[in-house]
Amino acid sequence: MTNGTRMDRFVDSLSETVWVGVSVDAATKRTYNRLKGLAEGSDLFDDVVENIAILVDYARMHSNRLGWRHPAYGVSFKYLLYKDNIAEVYEAAKLAKRLGCKNIHFRPAGTTWDKLDTAKEITFSREDVLLFEQQVAGAMKLDDETFGVYGVTHKFNSQFASANYFSKCHSIFMTAVIEPPVGKDAPKDSFTVGLCCDRRGDPKLELARNIEQPDRIQELWGGREHWSIHDRIVVQNECPRCTYQPHNEIYEQVILNDSMTYRFI
Ligand code: SF4
Repeated sequence: MTNGTRMDRFVDSLSETVWVGVSVDAATKRTYNRLKGLAEGSDLFDDVVENIAILVDYARMHSNRLGWRHPAYGVSFKYLLYKDNIAEVYEAAKLAKRLGCKNIHFRPAGTTWDKLDTAKEITFSREDVLLFEQQVAGAMKLDDETFGVYGVTHKFNSQFASANYFSKCHSIFMTAVIEPPVGKDAPKDSFTVGLCCDRRGDPKLELARNIEQPDRIQELWGGREHWSIHDRIVVQNECPRCTYQPHNEIYEQVILNDSMTYRFI
């Protein structure tokens, strides 16, 4: 029986945990400090690495599901790609495998909606992409039955730019994003309903602001304002890489354009 300390509660929670992802994004302290905005001399990277090793060992020693061989279970080393850390991809994969992580996940960092067309927009050059290809070829050699090397690329084209290959957003009828209330005068238990996880905080994607009753969502859903937001979205000018890119593309090509001739069937 554990007492109520933070560590005890964490250990208790592990009994049900099957997957933990740790966003490390680096293979060295120097790069970690730079990407995470830490002081140059910070040793936090060493702590993170040590804690991953402790977690993996703990899960194995206690036959916790997190330590099982099941491919969907385990500790995952997550790696968002930036210009500054591409050169460490192979070393990161080696580190992840040595720590006992089940896999390493690479994904190009995407520009958030509010940084598009600003100096903070994230871009990759052809050289960056070539370097990544070299690095990941080395990392792939570490892939075996105990360790997987994965990449999320469906939101990006081959140059890591966004791959929003559709003309309209069809996804804002699929998900709602419950966001914090807006403004200091908002009622205490109110919330704002957004329509896109990639444009959280964008007033143009708000269906309702500072409402208190969840039933209100049902009243507004599919109504005039919802359709009006749909009509006003200009994907190519306003949207970052879209989480729902496959849904939008499939809907547009298969349902609207009938490129699979489903109507014929
Ligand atoms: S990013 Fe744009 S296209 Fe994608 S779901 Fe959001 S609003 Fe729609």
